[in-house]
Amino acid sequence: MSSRTIETNPASSYEVLYYKLLEKESGGKIKVVNMGPTEMGNPFLLVIVTSPANHARLEQLRQMNLRLSDPRGVPEAEIKKIVAEGKAVIVQTMSMHASEIGGINMAPELTYDLVSRTDSETQRILDNVVYLEIPSFNPDGAIMIHDYYRKYVGTEYEGGALPWLYNKYIGHDNNRDALTLNMKDSQYVGKLMFVDWKPQAYVDHHHMGTYGARIFVPPYAEPIRPLGDPLVWREMQWYGGHIAQKEEEAGLSGIMNNGQYSGWGHFGFHWITPFHNIAGMLTESASARLATPIYIDPSQLSGGARNLETYKEQMNFPDPWPGGWWTLRGIVERQKVSAWATLDLAARNKETVLWNAYLKASRQTERGAKGKPSAYAISASQHDPLTLNKLVNFLLQQGIEVMQSARGFGTPDGMTYPGGSFYVSLAQPKMGLIRYLLGETHYSDNEWTRQQDGTPMRPYDMGADVLAEYMGIKADPLNDAVKADFVKVAAPIVSVGKLAPKGPFGYVIDGRLNDAYRAVNMLWEKGVAVRRVDKPADGLRPGDWLVPAGSEAAYTEAAAKTGVDFNALKADVKDGVHETKRLRIGMYQRYRGGNMDEGWTRWIFETWGFPFTQVYDAEILKGNLNAKYDVFIFADDSTGTITGEPNVGGGGGGRGGSFAGVPDTTPPEYRSGIGNAGVTAIKDFVQKGGTLITLGGATDFAITKLGLPVRNVVAGLSPKEFFVPGSTLRVKIDNTNPLAYGMPSEGLVLFHYSPAFDVVATDFNDRNDIVVRYADRNVERSGWLNGEKYIAGKTAMASVGYGQGTVVLIGFRTQNRAQTHGTYKFLFNALVTPPAKVAITATRNNQ
Ligand SMILES: [Zn+2]
Repeated sequence: MSSRTIETNPASSYEVLYYKLLEKESGGKIKVVNMGPTEMGNPFLLVIVTSPANHARLEQLRQMNLRLSDPRGVPEAEIKKIVAEGKAVIVQTMSMHASEIGGINMAPELTYDLVSRTDSETQRILDNVVYLEIPSFNPDGAIMIHDYYRKYVGTEYEGGALPWLYNKYIGHDNNRDALTLNMKDSQYVGKLMFVDWKPQAYVDHHHMGTYGARIFVPPYAEPIRPLGDPLVWREMQWYGGHIAQKEEEAGLSGIMNNGQYSGWGHFGFHWITPFHNIAGMLTESASARLATPIYIDPSQLSGGARNLETYKEQMNFPDPWPGGWWTLRGIVERQKVSAWATLDLAARNKETVLWNAYLKASRQTERGAKGKPSAYAISASQHDPLTLNKLVNFLLQQGIEVMQSARGFGTPDGMTYPGGSFYVSLAQPKMGLIRYLLGETHYSDNEWTRQQDGTPMRPYDMGADVLAEYMGIKADPLNDAVKADFVKVAAPIVSVGKLAPKGPFGYVIDGRLNDAYRAVNMLWEKGVAVRRVDKPADGLRPGDWLVPAGSEAAYTEAAAKTGVDFNALKADVKDGVHETKRLRIGMYQRYRGGNMDEGWTRWIFETWGFPFTQVYDAEILKGNLNAKYDVFIFADDSTGTITGEPNVGGGGGGRGGSFAGVPDTTPPEYRSGIGNAGVTAIKDFVQKGGTLITLGGATDFAITKLGLPVRNVVAGLSPKEFFVPGSTLRVKIDNTNPLAYGMPSEGLVLFHYSPAFDVVATDFNDRNDIVVRYADRNVERSGWLNGEKYIAGKTAMASVGYGQGTVVLIGFRTQNRAQTHGTYKFLFNALVTPPAKVAITATRNNQ
């Protein structure tokens, strides 16, 4: 994998040098800020463009802007003064998806025009707008794409898709990271927009498929996500109308708005910002073959999108592009007009834009104060309180105000909350966002979301994004506001654990804490003998971790770094425990554009301290995997992709590869798939005692290729019968099973077009364990569950004996996008030495 940085290869620093040069030559109109290193150590740039006079008082303008964005307690006279004297703040971000290269190529020209043009339109923008530009929202990916493209220019592979993820971990999912800001790039942009500046409008420039409209510009189509301020949607029509009109003025064809992209999408950057009261918008340009033109016959142009059924003139698409050669130049022209028009509209209407900012924030605050619920109470007493701290930190990253009470508080209807509990009032500007992150959410089920025959239409992403549910944290909606001695949580919570005074019997770490696995990994690293409790006894629960006296320095360090407490054991524990050791973990790594779920898993393993090896096809094909690995993981994937069936319809492996007469644009060394020999090697690994963990769709690989006695009960059902996009579902958990140690007996899992299982009866049923089952009724907690009867009571997670080994099937998204902390333990437990099978049986017989 290409991983060079600007420091190691100056060729890719041209972009940085270019903006630095513009800064030097612009006469004070540009300031270039290096926001910090990316995940791969490259600089992440912010380019601030405004008049020299505005630059001179930038901090004052920022403070004024923040007053408008949260006008609670600000006198109206001051608001009016800010509207008159403040400046519109606009953010635009380029090429977050690094293969969508229009933005990163457009921004240099846009920026150059802004600082070199001397006409009155340009001057008006500089005078009235503070323009915050992210010229590359994914510098690591931009370098990879550039290098890969240059390498193959002039060969049959020119313009082919990058075979691996276009950043260190998560590829295309970097947009979905707006919810929890796990990656450094996301943190920079999140802090810029959600905390430091709170702009009035945001445009994120992307690419889409090749054969429809040439560019999509705002507004979105139906359905919209409720709970935003109505003005925010009207503003998108306003900006979008201006953009589309400017495109037509410029004679650019193929402009489409109010189509294809619905207003209810994922909580990526452009779709979460509306709930920050920012007009969060998107452009999507038709793709060429990276920088290589593509020829399109007019007959190949098609509609088939929301509000663009046929490729013909219509109200939101009055000027169809006629076909021919489609080039990067055509993309850059259209994107540049849309980016410029956004700035132009804000400049021409600066006072309206700022007054709207005040209206959006104050009206959302009023709605939150009057609505029900009016607040969420989050008890300090949670199953995993350290994960609660993480949730609070995620809310703070979003710029949400969170209160805490040292003494605890009660509600009018008699609920009480212990000291340290949190309180999130909805009487604040981001009330819509709070409702979605903390409160039960049901996706719209109406005429916009079903076809005429009743078939559900796929939401753009998940059916809900309830972070509290993802994290296993209980947040209680309160109908009435509570007054107590609340103090605003001013800084991210740092969890620091304690080591109990030294006792003779050693210490116990609570097995319910996700961070216990981080602590145990640190201790394994130092060679500490760690045991795990299997049988409840004397205050110990199955899953608790025991460590001996004698390594107190290591415990103190682990407590400080992870937040877990080391409590003194009251007695020697000899029975009902097992020794654990560090398992050797291999995880399948493929090409075909890479696997985002694998990348997220890799990031989680690094964050939690699980060492692992990325295993490519060649190593699997050599066989004898048991010599190097105890556990082997396939992240969420399709069976065909794992085995290496021909690519169909692109998907990262190069277009047209499945047609004999069409060149495959993927070089042979990057065509992946383990084939029959690989399946044999995996079978052999499990039969000889290895543990195979399969996540999400990869469970199908295990079931079909290893021939497990398991059936996916929702396979083959039509969407009209069964349809579940990204929803949290209620489950029952056998937390006496080592794979579910530390879990509550009931919980929520994230189901996203996932499989659900029946373990088929055989003569050897005792070799299998059903670890998690869906609830028998009332299965949906949030999202959209169409067809409950097909899944109620069915198996969600199982382990299946196979030869000497075990296959673990986790159908739901147990570690999705590093957001579902509430179900991490199912994966982590599979990475820990299990008790001897005999011991489990004995435990059961005793119950
Ligand atoms: Zn994109």
